[in-house]
Amino acid sequence: MTPQKTPSIAENEIKRIIGTIEKEPDGRQIVFFAGIHGNEPAGIIALQRVLKYIKKRKIPFRGKLWALEGNLPALKANRRFIDKDLNRIWYTQNNDAAPLGTDLIEVREREALSTCIEKILSDSTGNIYFFDLHTTSAHSIPFVSISDTLRNRKIVKGIPVPIVLGLEEDMEGTLFNFFSELGISMILFEAGQHEQASSIDNHEAFIWMILVKLKFVKKDDFPDLHNCREILSKEWLFKKRVFQLQYRHLINGIGDFTMIPGFVNFQKIHRGQILAYNTQGAIHSPLTGRIFLPLYQDQGLEGFLIIDEIKIIWLKISEIIRKLGLDRYMSLLPGIRKHKEFQNSYVINRRLARFFVISVFRLLGYRKVIQKNNLYIVKRRPFEWEKPSMSVVRQRFKEISQ
Ligand SMILES: [Zn+2]
Repeated sequence: MTPQKTPSIAENEIKRIIGTIEKEPDGRQIVFFAGIHGNEPAGIIALQRVLKYIKKRKIPFRGKLWALEGNLPALKANRRFIDKDLNRIWYTQNNDAAPLGTDLIEVREREALSTCIEKILSDSTGNIYFFDLHTTSAHSIPFVSISDTLRNRKIVKGIPVPIVLGLEEDMEGTLFNFFSELGISMILFEAGQHEQASSIDNHEAFIWMILVKLKFVKKDDFPDLHNCREILSKEWLFKKRVFQLQYRHLINGIGDFTMIPGFVNFQKIHRGQILAYNTQGAIHSPLTGRIFLPLYQDQGLEGFLIIDEIKIIWLKISEIIRKLGLDRYMSLLPGIRKHKEFQNSYVINRRLARFFVISVFRLLGYRKVIQKNNLYIVKRRPFEWEKPSMSVVRQRFKEISQ
């Protein structure tokens, strides 16, 4: 691995397709997105290194790899986005969002990416995996986030970084959410802070571990695997731990939010602690937990998130109860009824249901989609363990990306 200072890329390296690899096609495809946010070039540099290594050392490769860049104009300007966050405009059905003007830079970027994705989907005959590579404004250890299905848990099992669940809840318009709803496994990897050279190394180590884990590259053909594991295992205290989102602090405008300096991802915080300021005064933590993604840049919609840890035993228990389909009995409990229109959805009346009911639904594989006064709607995550049919995915992708 080549040491490098602050991650940055030259103008001529800003292009939609960083590269592809197709030596022994077997119908499977793996797609890496990097630079969806223009101030996050670390993932692009890591992908360039991996492609170069595979080509130079003639590493045997089964299946096809795509390395794509996201927001090209924002990458040129080294800004998170120009008009709109490219990671908040991928809408599936049933959303109330107003249509976005086609003159917005990011709407055009979304269309250009959609054209690439359509091509990828049309070539796909076997498993397909999407990975979205990011970095954070606060200092952070690397972590992955998945939509909590048993299929996705299996993909990241053994990667020695913490897993954060529930990030997609209440957050429409992310690539992550969009493809998860389509039934394509989309894994989010956050490598560390934007400006840290170690974020490139973390991305690179993650990409290699995933390529081997999913058998695109044979373990024996990549001698550096141990090194990659070491790089990602540096924060060994965190490596096998799982966290879930508990609270999201949205902000009105960037001028109206100042995070207190010095917070790092996963840092413990307590209820009542002052975390930030706005024009109304101090913002206190509503919960005891760990701070997550505190905002230290001048573009963003969330000021900070709060997560807490889930014991591994609960994940194992949830796997068993999902396989048994015990969720069908949930409407026997007070304050819970099946949703009349939406499939695989329940309405929870928080006044009647017990406080831990949302956590139970999460363990059963549901996510919170709507919160209105005392009512919550939770929806089962689709494609828990079964794969969607590729023809259905292609059709749905065409419909919703028009
Ligand atoms: Zn990002």
